[in-house]
Amino acid sequence: MENIVMCDLKGQYLKIKSEIDSGIQEVIDTTAFIKGEAVTHFQQELGTYLNSKHVIACGNGTDALQIALMALGLKPGDEVITPDFTFIATVEVVALMGLTPVLVDVEANSYNMDTVALERAITSKTKAIIPVHLFGQCANMEEIMRIATKHNLFVIEDVAQALGTDYTFSDGRTVKAGTIGHIGSTSFFPSKNLGCYGDGGALFTNDDALAEEIRSISNHGMKVRYHHDRIGMNSRLDTIQAAILRVKLKHLDAYNQARIDAADRYEQLFGGCAQIKTPSRATFSTHIFHQYTLLLLQGDRTELIKYLSSKGIPAMVYYPVPLHSQVAFAEYQKSARNRDFPVTDLLCGSVFSLPMHTELTAEVQEYIAATIISYFE
Ligand SMILES: *Cc1c(COP(=O)(O)O)cnc(C)c1O
Repeated sequence: MENIVMCDLKGQYLKIKSEIDSGIQEVIDTTAFIKGEAVTHFQQELGTYLNSKHVIACGNGTDALQIALMALGLKPGDEVITPDFTFIATVEVVALMGLTPVLVDVEANSYNMDTVALERAITSKTKAIIPVHLFGQCANMEEIMRIATKHNLFVIEDVAQALGTDYTFSDGRTVKAGTIGHIGSTSFFPSKNLGCYGDGGALFTNDDALAEEIRSISNHGMKVRYHHDRIGMNSRLDTIQAAILRVKLKHLDAYNQARIDAADRYEQLFGGCAQIKTPSRATFSTHIFHQYTLLLLQGDRTELIKYLSSKGIPAMVYYPVPLHSQVAFAEYQKSARNRDFPVTDLLCGSVFSLPMHTELTAEVQEYIAATIISYFE
């Protein structure tokens, strides 16, 4: 069996090598390393792909979330609601901004924000909600937007794991994840569904005024050069990264389809295996499988992962520690109203993710599935 990896960036690169290499070389030839043409083109192309009026590229996905919070003009002490089961960046920026993170549990099926818990967590101090479209599938945005409208709250969608996912409203309208809330924010970290070859991120919005704020914040708070209207950041997408992303954006739908096909194959191979629960798929969202995450229903996860490793199969745990148990957030949890997160606790103790990428072959998947099934026998 070949060397099995969680994410095969090398194999993916080799298939588009000449396009990527010439894109990079072009940037070097122009020496427009910052704010070069490729950045403008990429923003336009991603805007067209998402059907979003404004796309503003920035330095990484964490910055994108921070810039979004800054653009909303929130004040210290304002509460921002995030799911308990996500990557740390989502809640980290809330705390960094002097805002109060309020965690809510996730749903047992989708692993996305529980909308009942969300509505229960709202107080007069709540100003914004950050739903995360975890592992490649949308949170229940129709319900989240209903709640947000009712309570007059901003919504920032964290689309870092779901760029290209389709969301369908009950009236049949289908839009791209990240274009439903007031602002969408994403990451182009190399292993994301649309990844560059370093750090990168972007924000999307259909709101002209927010777009202007976001542009200014990500560029030192200026609209006119050397005239600083507000305190901003230095967060830009390098031109070389934009050139790479322009090439990869053309392949994004095919890349996401390759992941969906691989997930379908896993699903079939695991059919009937009583010890694991395969990912569920919501009716209102496609699932582009940033991660293929199983829930272990019986047995010891550490033992299983050790066994898989001995057979040359990598497996990762996203995420082993709930945000509410993170040392860095202990202070917030002491004063938190809600300290009960049964679903997140269960998931952190029992989920594990298998190799999932655009180059995964049926042969490798058959080997992985057979190894797991035989472990249980
Ligand atoms: C990757 C990720 C981020 C952060 O992106 P970076 O580009 O690494 O800063 C934020 N939120 C989620 C859900 C992510 O998966």
